[in-house]
Formats: sequence, structure tokens, C-alpha cells
Amino acid sequence: MRIHALPPQLVNQIAAGEVVERPASVVKELVENCFDAGANQVTIDIEQGGIRQIRIRDNGCGIVKDDLALALSRHATSKIASLDDLEQVGTMGFRGEALPSISSVARLTLISRTPEADCAWLVSADGTEKNFDPQPDPHPAGTTVDVRDLFYNTPARRKFLKAEKTEFAHIESLIQKLALARFDVGFVLNHNQREILHLKPATSLTEQEKRIAAICGSAFIELSVKIDYAASGLQLHGWVGLPTFSRGQQDQQFFYVNGRLIKDRLVAHAVKQAYQDVLYHGRHPVFVLYLTLDPALVDVNAHPTKLEVRFREGRTVHDFLFQALHRSLAAQRPGSEGGIAI
Ligand code: ADP
Ligand code: MG
Repeated sequence: MRIHALPPQLVNQIAAGEVVERPASVVKELVENCFDAGANQVTIDIEQGGIRQIRIRDNGCGIVKDDLALALSRHATSKIASLDDLEQVGTMGFRGEALPSISSVARLTLISRTPEADCAWLVSADGTEKNFDPQPDPHPAGTTVDVRDLFYNTPARRKFLKAEKTEFAHIESLIQKLALARFDVGFVLNHNQREILHLKPATSLTEQEKRIAAICGSAFIELSVKIDYAASGLQLHGWVGLPTFSRGQQDQQFFYVNGRLIKDRLVAHAVKQAYQDVLYHGRHPVFVLYLTLDPALVDVNAHPTKLEVRFREGRTVHDFLFQALHRSLAAQRPGSEGGIAI
């Protein structure tokens, strides 16, 4: 066979294979877009575990009418314009892939209104049909993305979807992670028209701790140490559970780098080492930690879903984390000054 360029639809479906694994991955991309739009209220309506419908509404900056078609086009983004921007990127998205990928494997409707516009405008795409001629809509300022029938045209992927309950559990757990990333944003999560989660924006420390308690259990705040530590241009703040609040699984470990939830071996290793002397084998700590560093020192473009990052100075980050955690935990041990017995 001779070499030929793939049709755009197929290119998008291939890209969707990387970012859209299941309904929760769609929710992640869409909610991150709400964050990037400066929204402080996000409402997520899910039907049948997200397989039937995912609808996400925000009160962010909106999209101007003339850009709506571009928003659904591949590699089109408002977030970066140059390699310099990429290396300093402060937004959750920048690849311009999510909306075109999702719309190639589902029926997607995008409705958006900027604060200045007289009305909202709607465009849609469903894998085969594109309707990029904007239609007026009474939607308020902000954006709604409605995604129906995920993988309806890619049976091989649809086959991998689990039961409605399992898919929704993934979504709920994801919303918890996103809610801990952004205390300043209010979240409402509904499943089959039932309210599952309702979190008001949390500005004060007390409100933040209430949100954490709602997600990690109310005992966590009591049985944790608050960390605020800075060294070598790195900053770590958050809450680390005392060994008495450990768990049999690693399901309550939230680690954010510049506001982005990540999974990283180096981070996991530093944490494990810090707890080594105080936790029994097989027990795992609970923590909610926020690492802040110069965006130029971390490459977030290591993976399409951006769950993995690359630290430019991994050793420094590792040692910094270990020190911060080790000291905070050591200060709590019996015999240490002002510590609580554990
Ligand atoms: P990326 O987030 O990487 O730029 P997306 O495909 O997720 O790519 O979105 C494409 C563009 O559509 C974004 O750059 C942004 O300009 C616009 N957009 C998407 N969702 C929203 C939203 N909720 N509010 C405002 N603009 C949005
Ligand atoms: Mg995006």
C-alpha cells in the first residue's frame, strides 16, 4: 500500500484513544477546561455512569461566536502560542485535543456565551456530522459542553466500558480530586438527577478543612499535621495524616504540582521514605499535598493526560519532599517538643 495521510476524523479517533479512556476521562478534560476559563462554579450532570450523558456547565469566560468551530478543531487552543509559553504553561490544557477527540467518539454539543455577547451560540459534532454554523441559544454567560453516547461509533472501545456504577465511581473519585485542586471553585455533581456532591467555594482555612473532611473523612483533619515548608525555591503545603490514620490502600493520596494532580514515582518514593519508620509494612499514609515550583522546572507535556510530569531537578524535589515530611512527622513523635503522642 502507498503512504497516504489519514482522514482528520480518524486522526481524532486515534488521539481519543489516548485521552478518552472512559467517561471519567471526558469529565477530567471538560472540568479542566472550566478551570482554565476562570470559572468558580462547575455543575456536572451525569446520566448512566456518563455513558449516556455528561453535561458540564461553568460560569467562566466563554468562547466568542467566531471561535466556536475552532474549539472543536484539532490542535486549536487559546492557551499557548509558542514554545516559550509551553515551557511556562500555567493552564491545565494546552494541546487543543480534548474537544475534537471527544467529539470524534461521541455526540458533542458546545454552547457558550462571553459576558459581552447578547446571546449564547451553539455548535455540535458527532463523529460523522459537524454542525459548525453557530445557532443562537438562551444559555447564560459561561459554557456548557454536552457529551452523549460515548463510543457509540467505536464499538471496540465501548466494549471496555464497565457497569454504570463502576464508571460513575470513577467520575466521583475524579471530582473529589479536582475539588481538592481548586478550593475556590464550587462543584455540584448529579447522577441520574440525584445530587451526589455539593461543595461551595471554600476560601477560609476552616472551609477548606471542611471540604477535605468531606472527602477524606472527618477524622483526617484531627489526625493530620499541617505542613508549610519552603526551601530551594520549592514550596510544600497541605496536610499529612499521622500514622494512626493510615490505610490498607493508597486510595487517599492527593499530590498536586502547581495545581495539577499527578502520579509520580519519585514523589511516591520520597513519601514512602519519610513514613518508613512510623508506618507498619502494608499500611499507606493519607495526604493532601500541594507542591509549588517554577513552571519552567517541571515538564507537564510528558503524557497526553498529563497525569505524569517530569521534574527538571528530580533529586532536589525528592530530597525536599523527604525533608519536609520527615521533619513534620518527627515533630509529632513522643518526646519531641510540642508533639502529640502517636
Ligand atoms: P485545550 O484545553 O488544550 O486548549 P480543548 O480541546 O480542551 O483544548 O479546548 C479547546 C479550546 O476551547 C480551549 O483552548 C478554549 O479556548 C476553549 N474552551 C474549551 N472549553 C472551554 C470552557 N469551558 N470555557 C471557555 N473556553 C473553553
Ligand atoms: Mg482542554
